[in-house]
Amino acid sequence: MRPAVGAPVRRCTACDSWEYGGAPGCPRCAALVDDIVEEAWREFLAGEFGTPAHEDERIIAEMVAQEPDRYDWRVVDAALDRLTCDDCGSRLGRGPVGCAPCDLAHGFRYAAIETDRPGVPPGNEHAIRVNVSVVRRPYGISAPELLGRRMFLPFLLAGALPTTRQAQRMAALAKRGATERDLAALMDAASGETGADGHGSR
Ligand SMILES: [Zn+2]
Ligand SMILES: [Zn+2]
Repeated sequence: MRPAVGAPVRRCTACDSWEYGGAPGCPRCAALVDDIVEEAWREFLAGEFGTPAHEDERIIAEMVAQEPDRYDWRVVDAALDRLTCDDCGSRLGRGPVGCAPCDLAHGFRYAAIETDRPGVPPGNEHAIRVNVSVVRRPYGISAPELLGRRMFLPFLLAGALPTTRQAQRMAALAKRGATERDLAALMDAASGETGADGHGSR
């Protein structure tokens, strides 16, 4: 289950990061990130189609992929995961940069609907969407950018949105070679949440 707005950020039990933030390297965090889109897909299917047969599910996925602007981004991402790229054989939109059908599908996914949850700063859902997308398709992303994206994700899911200045500062530090540990200490200090679930205790 995706964290609710205001939920405490928790350490992953399988890696050194906050939950979700260890993806794509930590299998547990990667599965949590995948479940953000899978959960929405299950709800979408149940609400619109009940329990479709496997073959019907693929047809529904094709329909969604053709009109991404009509669906929530998580539903679109889950739909693309159910389609296979004819050129590279990956899940559509997740193949290497330079695979034309994947690049195209990856671009179109950004046409999907992003709805901010109540009580979050405007743009929070967009930031989640971008970071989830980068973490799930990290090809062509520099190591410092990936580090920043994945480290912000747990906080975005809890409803926070870093200011442009904070985001730029973190990006600059990551580019200069700051490690996950350095950045984690900074984010602990910035978030002011040092009590929850061992968060800030390192
Ligand atoms: Zn993890
Ligand atoms: Zn491809």
